[in-house]
This record gives sequence, structure tokens and C-alpha cells, in this order.
Amino acid sequence: MNITRVRRAAGETAQFDLEEDFPPFEFASETISFLSPVHVQLRVHNTGKLLLAQGIVVTELKAVCGRCLEDFRYPMNLSFEDEWVYAPSATEEQQESAFLFEKDEFMINERILEQIVLALPMKFVCTPNCQGLCQLCGANLNREKCRCVTSEADPRLAGLAKLTLDD
Ligand SMILES: [Zn+2]
Ligand SMILES: [Zn+2]
Repeated sequence: MNITRVRRAAGETAQFDLEEDFPPFEFASETISFLSPVHVQLRVHNTGKLLLAQGIVVTELKAVCGRCLEDFRYPMNLSFEDEWVYAPSATEEQQESAFLFEKDEFMINERILEQIVLALPMKFVCTPNCQGLCQLCGANLNREKCRCVTSEADPRLAGLAKLTLDD
């Protein structure tokens, strides 16, 4: 992504429409892969002091549900705003607060991946009402009702059931 033109002219705005394939990455000891290319709409505006970059990132991840352990499609649609400053002309304050770049060929992919990772949930859940796995036999309760469920009223298991709900 070349930003020479917008960097050189105060007041200038450039639009970029990017589609990139990203390799899988590690997150919270899980491997997360992309089910579709990452689509980015980026608007870069030169304010005279810095480049204001506003991006919208749309993609779909393949994630593993933390309750039922099944793979599922996790759509992402996020926006971000960055301040980019050309390193040779950065003030001391900008060196602290802004994102510095040195070449006009901007390495946007790293920034996009950072934004994606920042937007990931603490724990993936395939649907809000995912029933998870039976704690006793391991059956996927979204697909089958195992026999263990009938013993729910057993007071010795009440604590266990509660733990699962609070999870
Ligand atoms: Zn699930
Ligand atoms: Zn069971």
C-alpha cells in the first residue's frame, strides 16, 4: 500500500480497498485460521501534522467454541483509527503517541492483524445458548441428550452443574 501522494500533501485524502489473505495465527494457545480473505476499507487523511487512518476490517475466522469444542465460523467487522507519523518528521510527543512509519510502502498487514487480535473475545462461544459438553460423558449437548442429564437433580452433582453455568 503506497502512501506517498497523501503523505506529501496536507489536506489530501486517499482511499484504499484491500483484500489480503492472512496465514493462521496463535491466540490463547489455539490456532485461529481465516475462512475468507481480510477485506479492509481504509481512508487516510493528511491533517498537515499527521496521517489519520480510519479502517473497517471485515473477515471470518475459524474458531473453536470454548464450551462444546466444535469449530465454528466467527464473523468479524471492526473499525479502527490510527495516527501515523512519518518518522523523520515526528515530534517528540508524536514519537510517544503515534504510530511511526519510515517508508511510503506502508506495511498495513501487521496493523490489521493487531486490530483483529485486539478485538477477539476472551473466550469463543459458538452461540450464546451453546449447551456445551456433558461434564460426565463428554456428549455434545447441542446435538444429543445423554442419559446423565436425568441425574441433574442429584444433590451431589448440583455443585458441578452450577460450576458449568457460571463458567
Ligand atoms: Zn459451542
Ligand atoms: Zn452425559
